[in-house]
Amino acid sequence: MKNQERWHAAMQNNYGVPPITLVKGRGAEVWDDNGKRYLDFLGGIATNVLGHAHPVIVKAVSSQIGKLGHVSNLYSHKPALELAEKLQDLVNEPSARIFFCNSGAEANEAAIKISRLTGRNEIIAASGGFHGRTAGALSITGQDSKRTPFEPLLAGVKFVEFGDAAAMRKVVSKKTAMVIIEAVQGENGVVVPDVGYLRKVRAICDEYGALLAIDAVQTGMGRTGEWFGYEPEGIKPDIVTLAKGLGAGLPLGAMITLGDRTPAFKPGEHGSTFGGNPVSCAAANAAIDFIVKKDLLKKVSTSGKYLKVMLVKVPGVVEVRGRGLLLGIVLDSNVATAVVAKAMSNGLLINATGKNVIRIAPPLIVSKKELSEFIKVFTRTLNEVLNG
Ligand SMILES: *Cc1c(COP(=O)(O)O)cnc(C)c1O
Repeated sequence: MKNQERWHAAMQNNYGVPPITLVKGRGAEVWDDNGKRYLDFLGGIATNVLGHAHPVIVKAVSSQIGKLGHVSNLYSHKPALELAEKLQDLVNEPSARIFFCNSGAEANEAAIKISRLTGRNEIIAASGGFHGRTAGALSITGQDSKRTPFEPLLAGVKFVEFGDAAAMRKVVSKKTAMVIIEAVQGENGVVVPDVGYLRKVRAICDEYGALLAIDAVQTGMGRTGEWFGYEPEGIKPDIVTLAKGLGAGLPLGAMITLGDRTPAFKPGEHGSTFGGNPVSCAAANAAIDFIVKKDLLKKVSTSGKYLKVMLVKVPGVVEVRGRGLLLGIVLDSNVATAVVAKAMSNGLLINATGKNVIRIAPPLIVSKKELSEFIKVFTRTLNEVLNG
């Protein structure tokens, strides 16, 4: 049986049937089971910050699994302690306290639960925002197509237009436990709010004593050229959620509270069996060390600027949104799905976040040569789709 038939015969159909089967990768390259090579500009959806099979990750993970693979959170272990301390440094806040889990949805579930401990139960989120697929995370996700089949969801959630501080001011009140937004809306097509938006939302939250949570699951771990994506606004959120890039390809999420406004969980109030397991934490520690050592944040900014300059010149592209290596390429017609399929046959992995938007999120280590190859193949692909 071919792999597509096997998938169809054994898997739930929530992803549809994937067109290719991947067998190995190295850096920004992957190969399928026919030996065909692809340039991977999606990076496991903004997750493989150091690409595939990076030597420092392979070494950290192999060494850790050979020593201590899983212990539960009834016992302490060094990889989690080390990672928690690194994250305190990265958010630049010694008061930060970290809860580890396995995914972005779980990090946001933890944020929802901890926000309840304020005694308030209203949450404000942004339309178009994405926070995950579990019941709680879906309840704060501002995309009707994903929500509707599963309603009724959590009560007390209100959505406002993303980027509209005046609209935010109208809905936030003394009943608001938490406002949760992304610094850049990734799944919604890399939508960047105007400069000053996060600062205004921070001020509104301060005025009403509401927590401000930044979902940095997609923007985090250097992807935007900053560690988390909110830094250019000079704000300090009360809660930051992370996953995707955090484990550099291993399942790992985190909910970080900053400052003393967020109530603290008491023993027994929350938990996760696998959360922050030694192997995932070892991968995260190795990735952070490597990003720091190689000054990758600067490289990410430079790479992003180069891609933007080159991509806006491509016929059929009207705008390139985003920062660093999280970019949304807006096309002048609704051909994104066709472009993704044609790109795949041309040996390039990208994805569509809407009818006319392509998202790219290559590894932070992507080379100048690979950026040039991407531009060449993308230009040719778009031309083939638009001109037959
Ligand atoms: C992907 C994503 C999530 C969900 O993460 P999972 O690990 O798939 O649960 C949440 N928030 C944002 C901003 C994301 O991009």
